Amino acid sequence: MKFPLYFDHNATTPCEPDVVEAMLPWFTERFGNASSVHYPLGWLAEEAVETAREQLAVLIGASPKEIIFTSGATEAINLAIRGVLEALETRGGHIVTLATEHKAVLDTCKALERRGISTTYLPVGKDGLVDLGALENAIRETTALIAVMLANNETGVLQPVDEIAQIAQQRGIIMLSDAVQAVGKMPLSVQKLGIDLMPLSAHKMYGPKGVGALYISSRLSKSKLVTQVTGGGHEKALRSGTLNVPGIVGFGKAAEIALDRMSDEGHRLAALRDALEDGILSLGGAQLNGNKERRLPHVSNISFEGVEGKAFLIAINKELAISSGSACSSITTRPSHVLTAMGLESQLARSTLRFGLGRSNTAAQVDFAIQYVKDTVEKLRKERWE
Ligand SMILES: *Cc1c(COP(=O)(O)O)cnc(C)c1O
Repeated sequence: MKFPLYFDHNATTPCEPDVVEAMLPWFTERFGNASSVHYPLGWLAEEAVETAREQLAVLIGASPKEIIFTSGATEAINLAIRGVLEALETRGGHIVTLATEHKAVLDTCKALERRGISTTYLPVGKDGLVDLGALENAIRETTALIAVMLANNETGVLQPVDEIAQIAQQRGIIMLSDAVQAVGKMPLSVQKLGIDLMPLSAHKMYGPKGVGALYISSRLSKSKLVTQVTGGGHEKALRSGTLNVPGIVGFGKAAEIALDRMSDEGHRLAALRDALEDGILSLGGAQLNGNKERRLPHVSNISFEGVEGKAFLIAINKELAISSGSACSSITTRPSHVLTAMGLESQLARSTLRFGLGRSNTAAQVDFAIQYVKDTVEKLRKERWE
């Protein structure tokens, strides 16, 4: 086993070797600009981009026309939220979202509040799920957008996005769902979900960093979304800028591989996760966070009583690459906003491990992790009483 063992696949994933191989020619001999379509170097690049668009469309049940490429999910989320609110005919506007969304959603809403837009941040229950009645009650005359993530990046909890999208559709509200953690990990169809906008990220699904996409339903009229990056008019004038051809090719390949392996890998990781939870929870004074049934197969969020958060993480990180929450929040010493929204005391939220299992993890690694976590917790608890 190579240490530290990587258990943070929700923060990022390694590029699959086949993905890297697919990308390589597009850096060197096939370096053409995908917009320079009057000679082969350019049109080959353009064809490669269109192949990737198809590969992604197949993965999420969309049409290739409904996908535009961006620099990542954060940019796609910014385009979606800012683009919808900016397109409103009258000033103002209201957004309904959850307290447990990713910072890319929360901080974009906050930024818009400085420009007269209001946001309702709905609470969640202890299990991390939103109450549909509360969501309906939050809708106003001026509500333009509902943003509810499919799978939470810290707990893996799956929101009832299909039901929320139905409510949105009945009220004529645009529905955005951040599906970054779910795409490529579970069967998913934008048609079945009934959503209008969905950001994607390559590096969360064994593709390269710095590439993402926004699914834009063909139902959504073009006048409902204003571009946030102007320039040469790339990507239907919704996102200008020379396309990252190698990255996009890698993203497409990653989508193809994800679809191919999804079922086997999902079952394998769910079994590893169950073993991990059985092992760790036998320790006592440890609790699983989030709804146990409605969640991704490879995520487990566990809090430990009687250990101090920072010391715990430092000790754990000697052998395990893992974090207590999202990659963005763990740099700060603040407790996870997701866990506090689920009612956890900040002390307990700080002494939490988010396991993000992935392709590289084996049963032997999980066995090691169980023992290492147990030993570390017991040692720290003992030290506290001495
Ligand atoms: C990682 C992540 C993002 C941001 O994606 P980037 O491509 O890194 O910008 C957004 N939402 C969720 C749920 C994520 O996990």
